[in-house]
Amino acid sequence: MGRDRAHRLPRHVGTVDSSVVGGVEAVHSGCVPIRTCIGCRQRAAKTDLLRLVVRADDDGRSARVVPDPRGRMPGRGAYLHPDPACLEQALRRRSLPRALRVSGPVETSGVRRYLEGEEYGPDPSGPTTGCQ
Ligand SMILES: [Zn+2]
Repeated sequence: MGRDRAHRLPRHVGTVDSSVVGGVEAVHSGCVPIRTCIGCRQRAAKTDLLRLVVRADDDGRSARVVPDPRGRMPGRGAYLHPDPACLEQALRRRSLPRALRVSGPVETSGVRRYLEGEEYGPDPSGPTTGCQ
């Protein structure tokens, strides 16, 4: 009776438990959604990744993937590091159409231009996403 409290001893402090690597980590501000990059498959804060959305192209034959740096476009999104190398990996793995639920070819030149030239520019308003 009352002995259960003995089980609530704190963990040893100062020892690094390597078995927890891969769990939730690097939570800086308390509320950072984590997403997986479809290129390198590493997890990162949503705000560090570029959201991609798919739009039907004008001719209706191919799906056009466009960057959505503000994260406001409707539709299914995928997350990618803003790095051309990750885009290449995503294309090689064919994880982009899978993540976006698209069958058939996807047009990614807009994303490539964005990654190489930052033509949209940084978002001056900063991350707009909060807790969900
Ligand atoms: Zn990546």
